[in-house]
Amino acid sequence: MKVTMNKPERSIWVFGDYRNYFQNRVTLQLLARARELAAEIKAEVAAVVFGSRVDEYVGEYVAHGAQTVYVVDDPVLRDYSVETYVALAEGLIRRYRPEIFLIGATDFGREFAPRIAKRLETGLTADCIGLEINADGLLVQTAPSFGGNLIAAIITPEKRPQMATVRPGTFKELPHDAAAVGRIVSVPLPDDLPRARVRLVHSERKPPREQRIEDAGIVICGGRGMGSRARFKKLFEMARIMGAEVGATRPVVHSRWVDHECLVGQAGKTIRPQILFSFGVSGAIQHTAAIHDAELIIAVNKNPNAAMMKMADVAIVADAGQFCSALIRELRRRIRE
Ligand SMILES: Cc1cc2nc3c(=O)[nH]c(=O)nc-3n(C[C@H](O)[C@H](O)[C@H](O)COP(=O)(O)OP(=O)(O)OC[C@H]3O[C@@H](n4cnc5c(N)ncnc54)[C@H](O)[C@@H]3O)c2cc1C
Repeated sequence: MKVTMNKPERSIWVFGDYRNYFQNRVTLQLLARARELAAEIKAEVAAVVFGSRVDEYVGEYVAHGAQTVYVVDDPVLRDYSVETYVALAEGLIRRYRPEIFLIGATDFGREFAPRIAKRLETGLTADCIGLEINADGLLVQTAPSFGGNLIAAIITPEKRPQMATVRPGTFKELPHDAAAVGRIVSVPLPDDLPRARVRLVHSERKPPREQRIEDAGIVICGGRGMGSRARFKKLFEMARIMGAEVGATRPVVHSRWVDHECLVGQAGKTIRPQILFSFGVSGAIQHTAAIHDAELIIAVNKNPNAAMMKMADVAIVADAGQFCSALIRELRRRIRE
C-alpha cells in the first residue's frame, strides 16, 4: 500500500542502514528501543529507507517494529552517496519534523549523522550506549565523553530532531513479526537533489565471520600485553578450539594485528558473552564500557593491579602469551582424550 502523507506527526525515526543486512542488526535494535521510547512520549516509530529496490528491507523493518516507513526508492540511489543521502534526509526531516532521529554508529552512520545535524543546526550525541526518556519527555542520550573518562547524559532541550548515533549491540531487536502491518510513505526523488561527486567504481563483500562477536557466547579479547602479532595469532587458534570469537583493544587494532571489526570498546563493538577471556588488557574505561554485560570474565595479566584484573571474576597473574600456549595445549589434550 502506498500512501502520501503531508501532515507532520510526533514520531521517532530510525535510519534504515540495510547494507550488510544479515550481519548488521543495529537498525532493528534501534527500532526495538524506539518502540519503548515512543510508548513514553506517545509517538509513532518510523524507519527511513533510501535505495533502489528496497521493498525487502521495508518489509523487514515493519516486521521488526516500524509503524511507518518513509521510502525513497529510485535507481539513482542504488549506491550510497553521502551527499545525496544527507540531502534527502534533510529534506524529509524539514517536511515531517520528527522528534527524534536515531542512526546506528556504523562507519556509515558516523559519516552521515553529523552532516545532517549540522545542516539542521541541531545537536547530535555520537556513539550512545543508552537512550531514555526523562520526566520532561526529552531524550536522554548516554555516551562516553572526554575520551571515555566520563559517561555523560546529554539532552537536546530546544533543537529538533534530537539526534543520536547508537553503538551496535546496545539494544536487543524485537522478534520478527510476519503479521505486523505498517504504513508506507513513498516519497519521490526531489528534482533538486545534488549530484554525487564520488562515483563507486567497484565494491566487494568481505567473507562473513562465523558468527558476530556481539552474539558470541565466548569471546577471547587480546590487548597490547600479547606482545606481538605472532603471539596474538594464538588467540585465534584458541578461539577455533573453543568456538569463540576474537576481540581486541585499540592499540592492537592500531598495530594492525587484527581488523577494526574486532575492536571492542567505545569506538568498536559492545559484547555480552557468557564467558570473556581477557589477555594482556589493562582495562581502560573506553574498553570496559563495552564488556559490562559479560557474565564471567577471566583475565590474564602480569600486573595484578591492572583495572581489568580488578573487574575480572577470575584474575590470573601470568604472562599472557605463555598462559595462552599452555591453555591451547591443555585444550588439545582434552579433545584427544
Ligand atoms: C576517544 C577514545 C576512544 C577509545 N576507544 C577504545 C575502544 O573502543 N577500545 C579500546 O580497547 N580502547 C579504546 N581506547 C584506548 C583506551 O584508552 C586504552 O588505551 C586501550 O584500551 C588500552 O589497550 P590495552 O589494554 O591493550 O593496552 P595497554 O593499556 O598498554 O595495556 C596492556 C596491558 O597488558 C599487560 N601486559 C603487558 N605485558 C604483558 C604480558 N607479557 N603478559 C600479560 N600481561 C601483560 C599490562 O600490564 C597492561 O595491563 C580509546 C581511547 C580514546 C581516547
